Amino acid sequence: MIVKERTKPLILFKLDSLLERIPSNSFKKANIQSDRAKFNAGFNGEKSLDYHLADLSDENHYIFHDLRLPRDKLQKLYFQIDSLIITPKYCLLIEVKNLIGNLYFDHQFNQVIRTRNGIEEAFPDPIIQVEFQAACFKDWLASHKILNIPIFYLVVVTNIHSVIRTSPNYKTSLNKIVRGKDLIRAIHKLNTMNNNRCFSQKDIKKLSKRLIKNNKQSDINVLKQYDISTEELTTGVICPYCGTLPMKRVMRNWICLSCSQKNAYAHIKAINDYALLLNTEAKNASLRNFLHVQSATSMYKLLRAMDLKSTGSRKAATYTLPLPK
Ligand SMILES: [Zn+2]
Repeated sequence: MIVKERTKPLILFKLDSLLERIPSNSFKKANIQSDRAKFNAGFNGEKSLDYHLADLSDENHYIFHDLRLPRDKLQKLYFQIDSLIITPKYCLLIEVKNLIGNLYFDHQFNQVIRTRNGIEEAFPDPIIQVEFQAACFKDWLASHKILNIPIFYLVVVTNIHSVIRTSPNYKTSLNKIVRGKDLIRAIHKLNTMNNNRCFSQKDIKKLSKRLIKNNKQSDINVLKQYDISTEELTTGVICPYCGTLPMKRVMRNWICLSCSQKNAYAHIKAINDYALLLNTEAKNASLRNFLHVQSATSMYKLLRAMDLKSTGSRKAATYTLPLPK
């Protein structure tokens, strides 16, 4: 059964907002678009894995998608697991690879060479990646006084069209690479091979709670990442019909000066953009500036209607803006 669902990663929300708010002629746009495509391909690959795991709906397989756990007490370093399955007898970490093209797993240089349309490209060996995650997870379990549970890992290639080949000395790791359609069979094999029950249902439930509590989504400052200043962002409310900005606030409505359409809620997307790109805490004045709202009272009413958490008195209030899920 699925304990933690996979949701659209925060970075994709951020890159979508950024692409809408940097000028179309910016030379930085191509780089951001290419990164967005990579994150999206990864997310789609992971989602296709979820389809294969849907059969494991019983009480003996607790599935966690997309976990990010601390590697140290200071919580400065994290490790990420695409999917984790906890059973009473073992834990299984899954690393998903959704590379289009033919794949050659090169043991000697710890790389995967992808050939696509005659072009070769190298990627880090996912076996090394998932081995590292398994070591981190073992340490994490130990720091929670959970010892002696067998930990296994698999790399799942989700693209059905990829031809997979491996270098001659890859033998030991060969059975760690499976295709999406063979994943369930590999899990059933692990179920048969492992007979010792290490966890009771109560233990698993306790561990599940800890995993959810310790999971922290990655939150990258994309402006810093792409060296974009606040001034480079185009501000104002974006028209949901034609994408033009800024819309004009007239009589409790947003009006598009380009297509003349009206919308009462177009500001919510702009406030989301502010939270994703600039800050999840904001004052009336900074939001007014971003949304091109003249009156502090109008802005106050818009924020109050969104029922946001706030601290401080009405005039000086700081609002906590939620991030999209
Ligand atoms: Zn419009």
